[in-house]
Amino acid sequence: MTALTSRFGDLKIDALLISALPNVRYLTGFTGSNALLLVTPGRNTLFTDPRYTIQASQETSGCVAKTARGSLTAAAAQLIGRLRLRRIGFERGRLGFEAWQRLKDALPMGASLKPIGPVVEELRMVKTPEEVARIRASVMANSLAFEAVLQGIRPGVQETEIAAELEYQMRRHGAEKASFDTLVASGARSALVHAQPTTERVIANQLLLIDMGATRNGYVSDMTRTVFLGSPARKVRKMYDSVLMAQLAGIAAVREGVTADSVDRAARRVLRADGLDKAFVHSTGHGLGLEIHEPPRLGKKDQTRLQVGMTITIEPGVYIEGFGGIRIEDTVVVTASGCEVLTPTTKELIAL
Ligand code: ZN
Ligand code: ZN
Repeated sequence: MTALTSRFGDLKIDALLISALPNVRYLTGFTGSNALLLVTPGRNTLFTDPRYTIQASQETSGCVAKTARGSLTAAAAQLIGRLRLRRIGFERGRLGFEAWQRLKDALPMGASLKPIGPVVEELRMVKTPEEVARIRASVMANSLAFEAVLQGIRPGVQETEIAAELEYQMRRHGAEKASFDTLVASGARSALVHAQPTTERVIANQLLLIDMGATRNGYVSDMTRTVFLGSPARKVRKMYDSVLMAQLAGIAAVREGVTADSVDRAARRVLRADGLDKAFVHSTGHGLGLEIHEPPRLGKKDQTRLQVGMTITIEPGVYIEGFGGIRIEDTVVVTASGCEVLTPTTKELIAL
């Protein structure tokens, strides 16, 4: 955790209280659902409750795991008092108002709270080779699940059935769970960017958009494919080609040292040339790792410079009300020479 504590001088804090569970997991290995981590230059203390005493002792490294009798906040405040720590940073984007208030009330005299930005998330952006290996394994489980289900999709099947089958197959292929609720949207509903599956039955000669990800060993993957039930009309093919060209342009723009927004621009430029940029209503991609949405954001305003080891998605899409939506999404890792597309699933327009 020296990478973190070395920033304490700049941040003007003596200790940092980590409340976001993915950050706790990243720093200690602890996977339980209730934890607070107090990071100080000399020692790191994880507080959890009696349900997790055994688990914490098995999973954690580089910290002292303590079981709190009462609230974790009170236990952390007590230690802050004992160590005479004064300037306590907290994760301003992660701590809820009530928890902040409780913490403030529990702090000893002389100690004060200081809001701190996403410092752990910044560390997490660049993955270690072990983390990339986990993401690669997650991508594989996800793509194998997609392949296992794809050929069984016929007109008359419900969207919810397809989603259930996909999530079952992810687990069959080694995933702990889906990394988010699997999106399955057919026909005009595919224009809803985040359409949850319904009991609607998919019908012939329509688009079918599937956005899915698997969590494996804690790490996620993210993939979208848009397929067509039947033989796609010229308009569909043209739109699909535009999105695919935009996606390939995004991938080609990924390189160490370029800014996140320049990748977004590269994808957007292709769609603009085809008059579809207004129908592209989200960012080109996002970081992913322990969480499905992590920095950087490959959008118009993020000037984060890409570094080797960052894992990101490239996922342009176009959405037309009453007609449908097409999105193509891969998980990629930034390398010294550009990037490696981890997702092995074909991007040819699949006609079922
Ligand atoms: Zn996705
Ligand atoms: Zn995504």
